[in-house]
Formats: sequence, C-alpha cells, structure tokens
Amino acid sequence: MAMFKDFDLHADILRGVEKLGFEKPTEIQKEAIPYLLESDQDLIALAQTGTGKTAAFGLPLLQKIGSKESDVQAIILCPTRELCMQLAKDLESYSKFMDRFNILAVYGGTDISKQIKSLRGSIHIVVGTPGRTLDLIKRRKLNLQAVKFVVFDEADEMLSMGFKDDMDAILEATPEEKQTLLFSATMPAEIAKMTKRYMRNPKEISIGHKNSGTKNVEHHYYDVPGRKKYEALKRIADINPLIYGIVFCRTRAETKDIAERLGNDGYSSDAIHGDLSQSQRDSVMQRFRGKQIQLLVATDVAARGIDVDSLTHVINYNLPDELATYTHRSGRTGRANNEGVSIILLSGRDRSKLRGIEKKIGQQVIKQQIPSGKQVVKAQLDKLIDRLEKAEVNENELQEYLPEILQRLNVYSKEDIIKQFISLEFNRFLQYYKNSDDINSKGSSRDRDRGRGDDGGRGDGYRTGPRKRYSRFYINLGEKSKVNPQKLLAVINKFTPEHSIEVGKIEILSAFSFFEVDETQANVINSAFKDAKFGNADIVVKPVAASKSKESRGSRGRDRNRGRGGRRSERGPRKPHRGKGNSSRRR
Ligand code: AMP
Repeated sequence: MAMFKDFDLHADILRGVEKLGFEKPTEIQKEAIPYLLESDQDLIALAQTGTGKTAAFGLPLLQKIGSKESDVQAIILCPTRELCMQLAKDLESYSKFMDRFNILAVYGGTDISKQIKSLRGSIHIVVGTPGRTLDLIKRRKLNLQAVKFVVFDEADEMLSMGFKDDMDAILEATPEEKQTLLFSATMPAEIAKMTKRYMRNPKEISIGHKNSGTKNVEHHYYDVPGRKKYEALKRIADINPLIYGIVFCRTRAETKDIAERLGNDGYSSDAIHGDLSQSQRDSVMQRFRGKQIQLLVATDVAARGIDVDSLTHVINYNLPDELATYTHRSGRTGRANNEGVSIILLSGRDRSKLRGIEKKIGQQVIKQQIPSGKQVVKAQLDKLIDRLEKAEVNENELQEYLPEILQRLNVYSKEDIIKQFISLEFNRFLQYYKNSDDINSKGSSRDRDRGRGDDGGRGDGYRTGPRKRYSRFYINLGEKSKVNPQKLLAVINKFTPEHSIEVGKIEILSAFSFFEVDETQANVINSAFKDAKFGNADIVVKPVAASKSKESRGSRGRDRNRGRGGRRSERGPRKPHRGKGNSSRRR
C-alpha cells in the first residue's frame, strides 16, 4: 500500500500533509502525484468532488513551483467563491512548512480593489472563478504570461454555469508552453471538445467507473405521491435523528418553501438559493458548517462549491433534468472516506429517470419504504435513551439539590419516573405520529423481484398501476396571451405557493387553455385564482365537465411522446398545443 512518504515529495510538503492527518493517499492521489512529479504532460482526471483531488494536483504543483520567482506561476480555475477559498486554504495548509508561498483567491461578489491591491505584490498561485479572473486580466491587473500551470477544477460545473467563453479567454492569456490539468466529475461532449482543443497528448486518469457515483454512497429511493413528499421528508429526517444533509430542490421558490416549512415544524433548517446576498449566504453556510443547521435546503446552483465533508445524506426532493447533476448532488456525501446516503423522493415523471441514473452511477438505486409513524417514534426514543445514557453526571454540583429531589420523587416507582421523563420530552412526538398513515405510493414504480418495472417491462418508466384521477380546468389564457405549457405551470405555481400541485395534461388553445390537476387537489385550484391577475387582466379558472376530462385522458398513452416544453400542433392554430403528458409542477 503506497504511503505519502513513498512519493518523491519534499520533506516540508510531507510535514504539511502529516499535520493535516492524511495517512494514506486516496486513489486519485496515488495515480496523479507520481505522474505529475515526473511528467510535464497534460492531465485529464475524471474524479468526483471529495476524492482528494486538491492534494492530487496541489502537492506536485507546490513542489514544482518556485517561491523565489515573483510572477504568477499557476492559475487554478474553479466554479464558485466557496471552492476558491477552500482550494486556497488547502494549498496554504500543504505549504505550511515550505518557503513562503503567496496564494490569492479571486472571486466575484466582493470588492475587486482589494484583490487588485494584493496582485501588486508577489503572488505565486491565483485561485479564481472564471468571471473575476478574466475581469482582472482585462483590467491588466493580472498577468498570466509567466504561468507554468493551468488547472481547471470541476470543469464540467464551470461549463454548465456558462463560463466556457471566459475559460477560453483565460487560456488565451497564458503562454503556449505550460502544463494543463483538468479535473471533472463527468465528461460531457463540451469538455471532451475543450480537451482536444487545448491539451496536448494528455494522460487520462479515471477514478472508479467513468461518471460513477462515489463508492461510499448508497443510493436509495422512496416511492411517494407528490403531495406526500414533504411528509416523507420529515419522516426520513425523524428516523435519522443525527441527519446532516442537503435537500435539493429545483426552484428558489420551492427551496424557500421547504426550508420555511421545516423551520416551522421545529427542524434546524435553512435555505440557500440565488436570492440571498453574499453575506446572507455566508451566514447560512457558517451555521451549516457549525451544524446549527442540520438540513440545508438548496438549489443546484447555490449548492455548488459547498465543501462540507461529513454530510450523512443528500436528499433529492425532485430529480434534476440532467443526470450529471444527480452525480454532483450525490457526490456531496460519502466524502473523505465517510459513508453517505443519497435519497430520491420519487414521484410523477421523475420515475422514468431512475434507470438512467442507475446506468450513470453504475449502481442500483435501492427501494426503501417510508418509515411508519411507529418506526419513527422508536428511532427517536432510541436517540433519547442514548442521550440519557451518555449524559455526563456532575455529582458535585448535584449533591446540593439531590436530597430534596429524591425526597419528592420518593413516592414514584422507577417505572413511573421513566414514563414521566419520557413523556416530558416526547409527548409532542407521540401525538404527531399517533394514527399516522402509510404514505408510500400504492404499487411500486418497478418490481425488482420480478426483474421488471410495473411499466409492464416496456422500460419507459410509466406506471400501469392504479391510475391517478385528474380534474380538468378551463383558464382564460392561451396563445394570444403568449402562454405555453411552461408558462401555464409557472402561473399555477405562482397562485398555489403553499401546495405541491401535481399537474396532468395541458392543452393550449388560441384564447384559452385546459389543464388537469390531481383530483384531490381540485379544491386548491378552485380557490387559488380569486382576484388573480395575468398582467393587467383578470385570470378566470373554472372546472370543466368530467366527460371531456375522460376523453383527454384517453389519449394519455400517446401523450408520452410529447415534447417536454410543449410543441405546436402541426394541424393548425386551433388545435391544442402539445403539453406535458403527465407533468408535475415546479419546473
Ligand atoms: P478534495 O476532493 O480535494 O476536496 O478533498 C476532500 C476532503 O478529503 C478534504 O477535506 C481533504 O482534506 C480530505 N483528504 C484529501 N486527501 C486525503 C487523504 N489522503 N486522507 C484523508 N483525507 C484526505
């Protein structure tokens, strides 16, 4: 088994590594460190976040860079401010016992003049987000002409955040002769193109299967009706009293909504999303790192760069559109040799994505049952008893009060005292879960025992189990109001912010439209649009006759082929637009 001391690293670097408590190199470090120490060739490394890639490139980089030269010799690009700060901090720790290295993190959302001032001194390594780095180059405050190393960290994230042009421009500002290192969790076509264009004969390292999930992560799914998702989330949190994780949502509105509901229900939770200012974001992150927040509810964009290693769970409240995003989400747990669980709350159309995910991560996503109220209560009681057993008893301090307490409690039996104590802490919990329902979806999205899904083996993921019943509504918005299925969903979301409405078929006509919602949620729709406006016009929503509804449902089999965003009918403007076959809301 290779150890750090087996690598040809300076004693000062080894001291830094030892100080950090790293004992054995991780897989990627075993592959990359000896290679980078010896070779000046470019490198592509496919590795998840949390696999130890910073040290994999950082240690050889520090060894190869001279701190005597005063120019910037390495530029490391990464997608977010948090990651910039983390990378700079890590490099500083590795070089703690070396001759002084000046490492500067540059990122947006903060005063540029300070960064400019720092660049006037001697900086050896710059760690930057692409936007701010390019800004500094354009202002002629950052000169990369002496750069020997360019590192792209989380390259796929940077591309998906739209930094491609900035990355190209930064590369243009570096000399021809240099070593380029690219780290990415996935290898989308755009990255492959980029490596062909900019890298010379690169060596490729892939840790685990290409694009695979981290091996320390178990993937679980819970099949739950859309309207029961929040309840399911609470039960999962309650049965894992020590949970410390991120709940991923699709939209800012949903993120805020879930965090607020969790907060109101007594969970230590907060949200992180694009509407927060940098200082609000920093404050949330500080509380999350300090574990004052157990469940952080986040959008994908906002969660980028969160560098917490000890997360026990990642919860997919909804699945993302891109499979690669699922890999990024689940890679936030199971880091630094810890174990983690990635949970999917599966409902609606997301069911059709499960197979794709399994293929992508090369692992089975295991079906779990949402715990019953009794199971939750038992887990919480275990935790309480555990706390009781581990409580530190301060004999001396207690001595003064104990005789009086013992005298008062003398009349009770031991069993009575235990009951009283548990009730004191636990009555609210018992009450909440008394008579709680089974909230698992009836019938499952697939039947593993028989080796095929309940889509009848068609593999399209659509259920043939008990069919949901829908109510159909008229709305006075159509093509003329520039409404398409997405917009209509947005309108429904806007006026039902407290609810997770499951929307079925949508038909857009010239002056009005029809949409269906889960029958059990028809009441919400009936009352949601009173006084509602679309621009200056009043919105009118009315239930329409069931017979029509039936007719439209009859075509649901064919609806599967519809385009997601809604395609225009080819038969003329009075025909319905092709809406979502059976969409769930909050896209
Ligand atoms: P990274 O992928 O570089 O963000 O590293 C993820 C986490 O693993 C960080 O907290 C590192 O400090 C930690 N780490 C990196 N290499 C090792 C190692 N060889 N042994 C233990 N922890 C490590």
